[in-house]
Amino acid sequence: MKTTVQTLAGSRIGLFIDGRFVAPRSGTYVPSYDPTTGEPWYEFAQGDSDDVAEAVASARAALADPAWRRMTQTDRGKLVRRLGDLVLENADALARLECRDNGKLLKEMRAQMRAIPDSYLYFAGMADKLQGDTIPVNKLDTLNFNLREPLGVVGMIIPWNSPLMMLTGTLAPCLAIGNTVVVKPSEHAAASSLALAELVIEAGFPPGVVNVVTGDGATTGEALTRHPGIAKYVFTGSTATGRRIAANAAGNLAPCQMELGGKSPQVIFSDVDIDRAVNGVVSGVFAAAGQTCVAGSRCFVERPIYDRFVEALVARTHRIKVGHPQEEDTDIGPLALAAQLAKVEDYVASGTREGARVAAGGRRPQDPELARGWYYEPTVLTEARNEMRFMREEIFGPVVGVAPFDTEEEMVALANGTDYGLASGVWTRDIDRAMRFARTIEAGTVWINTYRSAAYMSANGGMKNSGYGRRGGFEVMREFSRLKNVVIDYSSAMQDPFVIRLR
Ligand code: NDP
Repeated sequence: MKTTVQTLAGSRIGLFIDGRFVAPRSGTYVPSYDPTTGEPWYEFAQGDSDDVAEAVASARAALADPAWRRMTQTDRGKLVRRLGDLVLENADALARLECRDNGKLLKEMRAQMRAIPDSYLYFAGMADKLQGDTIPVNKLDTLNFNLREPLGVVGMIIPWNSPLMMLTGTLAPCLAIGNTVVVKPSEHAAASSLALAELVIEAGFPPGVVNVVTGDGATTGEALTRHPGIAKYVFTGSTATGRRIAANAAGNLAPCQMELGGKSPQVIFSDVDIDRAVNGVVSGVFAAAGQTCVAGSRCFVERPIYDRFVEALVARTHRIKVGHPQEEDTDIGPLALAAQLAKVEDYVASGTREGARVAAGGRRPQDPELARGWYYEPTVLTEARNEMRFMREEIFGPVVGVAPFDTEEEMVALANGTDYGLASGVWTRDIDRAMRFARTIEAGTVWINTYRSAAYMSANGGMKNSGYGRRGGFEVMREFSRLKNVVIDYSSAMQDPFVIRLR
């Protein structure tokens, strides 16, 4: 990796436009904070609408540049694969960067950095497999076929939780298709996107194919989502911001792909191995300090095992180690932002006010070593009801609400009793019941006897307020390409110019 990002600590870094770092026009830089101490650790550029316009112009120029436009799909695939190789070569540095920037566990970031190259490899292989088709029309001596083409410049708005993994899920297919990209990472975790931009150039992509504009959502994000030069937007984040972006994009008739988080249910039937189900619930809601879009934050347990399940869940929760994200035995690091910590505290307080009971956690850790960071104990709230605010809204923190159910019908009403529809999990040994759940649940992903078992080979996405559009698998290649219909008449016949040719 180039030195710019490796030596980031204590320095400042510009916007990445047209293959190099440039100063923002305003000359303004903003500190990024280390979640373990709350102290600033580097400064990034605050991009404004002129900077965004320059980045979009660079991406549009790259789209027209024969170095990119006339590249064969096979050669594009090779570049995407090379980018994945470079991520692997720099995996440790990238994992440390991500960990420092958003407080995610180093061991989790290392695992992600080993998986991300496979994702590039997967989409690299698709670069020359995006085929059109030939249509057997009702006309003689006519060839009617569909071409698949790149969409154009894709605008990507990336959140602060697992930014590189989120970015890869759409960047890899977009590049494999031949699009160009302007990325707006979160102001809270921009370092890894900037590091990746350097690797893009090192891999051999022409300048301008990938640009990164840093800055806050209200300024830089707004400018990007109002720019008329963007063909499609990718957004991951809150429903409220998603709505705003979709409204901005509609002004230019630009479509969006929206991944807007959730309030996902985990359902436990009484025929399960309780310890295994507890392990699944813990992984589903407490991993990454609960800052995952698929967090299984509402847990419904069949009444015969409810008390035993809660007891086991609480015991397991007490064994979770909250600590510095770089330490190997840490299970939960800090939340990524001070605002996120305040939000979690507020939701737990509202839950107890509405009648939920804190069975574990419910406070910041008492360890004085962690006092300066944005840490929160993993929290189990029992006697939870769907009407409570903390059960309705996405918390994005280590908090699970638990409630019993008696019948399958009641369980379906509880599980689907949410405005969201991103993910879901069911734990049972009864395959018929599991399949009934899969069919009735309103969620884009159903996990049976597992949770957070993510795969970039299958299409994922939301229903209801969790958004629309799909990522992963071949589906994403269709989402970021467009169809063009081509008709060739090789009959040499003269047609009546005033009658449409239907046969
Ligand atoms: P937002 O949805 O506001 O932010 C997500 C991304 O959108 C960030 O890159 C942000 O930039 C950008 N953004 C914000 N406003 C605009 C705008 N007007 N135009 C364009 N881009 C914009 O989430 P927050 O970071 O404020 O977190 C709030 C809550 O959102 C969390 O508590 C969580 O519930 C949810 N969330 C869900 C995520 C998921 O994976 N489902 C991911 C992140 C958040 P910037 O950060 O620079 O402002």
